[in-house]
Amino acid sequence: MNIILIGPPGAGKGTQAKRLVSARGMVQLSTGDMLRAARTSGTEMGQRVAEVMERGELVTDEIVIGLIEERLDSLEGTGAIFDGFPRTLPQAAALDRLMAKTGRSLDAVIEMQVDDEVLVERITGRYTCGDCGEVWHDRTRPTAQPGICDACGSTNLQRRADDTEDALRRRLMEYYKQTAPLLGYYFAHDKLHRVNGLADMDTVSDVIASTLAQV
Ligand code: AMP
Repeated sequence: MNIILIGPPGAGKGTQAKRLVSARGMVQLSTGDMLRAARTSGTEMGQRVAEVMERGELVTDEIVIGLIEERLDSLEGTGAIFDGFPRTLPQAAALDRLMAKTGRSLDAVIEMQVDDEVLVERITGRYTCGDCGEVWHDRTRPTAQPGICDACGSTNLQRRADDTEDALRRRLMEYYKQTAPLLGYYFAHDKLHRVNGLADMDTVSDVIASTLAQV
């Protein structure tokens, strides 16, 4: 099964993708994670990507399509969860083409709906374990001991450079301008399912599971 998680920054796509990975053995394909890895590569391209991401703008279609194409060529596991890709109509068209080329199909697109007001709160308190990827939050989900990940014991807790209020507003603007049109695209392809991303994490996971059971 291959699915897309779509929603504004802070909707919970990464958290739910990780849960699907452990529950179903699927593979999370997060272009944001891939770009963050490329950014630290020290290349000139990595430096340009870092600047674009820090401003909260979108990286070019060509770069992210290339990253996904590379990963799809060697994909194993029970299916892919596209997290943060596609984000533009040309990316969606490229994904259709790449899926067809590799003999795969897209089963469902899950839109995680969240009110804009809660996104600022969610994003600005967020930090992540650099070792196991677990996501924490200053107010709603702090680690038991400050500076230590409850999940793996690592002290490598990190805040993203683009998780500031300014960058978030730009990321939201990009979402509404460039990504929201994909909802119409996937609705027209009869793939779109909507989930209330404001519910607690377990409820969201349950609703996603029952949605996927029906496709
Ligand atoms: P994310 O981790 O999904 O929130 O992505 C972080 C940042 O990476 C975004 O704000 C963009 O700058 C860049 N990015 C991630 N995925 C894409 C994509 N599919 N298209 C363009 N830029 C992307």
